[in-house]
Amino acid sequence: MKTIYLRRTLFNRCPRCGEGHVLKNLFNRHDNCSSCELTYSREDGFFIGGIPISYGLICGLWIVPLLIAWMLEWLPKDWFLGLCFGGVFVFPILSYHYCQCLWLGLYFVFAEHEMPERGKDSV
Ligand SMILES: [Zn+2]
Repeated sequence: MKTIYLRRTLFNRCPRCGEGHVLKNLFNRHDNCSSCELTYSREDGFFIGGIPISYGLICGLWIVPLLIAWMLEWLPKDWFLGLCFGGVFVFPILSYHYCQCLWLGLYFVFAEHEMPERGKDSV
């Protein structure tokens, strides 16, 4: 298990070489690495794996802290509901491609044998 793949994608870098960017910007993703030519999509529907990552990030970084703040009475109920509903609509839009980037790194952590060597990327 090579966690370096995930660490590279955490910083928007290619999981194989760590040099090229995965994301062009917050709303667009490159298809290939500009440095090593790795094709990021492994198959049709590959990046659907980013959805559970987005769900986990929303729950862990947004809903649970808000729930705790509401339970400790740091937030009024109206604010809690407004922030929850606002966050669950805005956060997935902003994090959609970044979560795909994280999925790419996570995929290769657990499927290291599928990482093509340089020049042999046939997908
Ligand atoms: Zn690369």
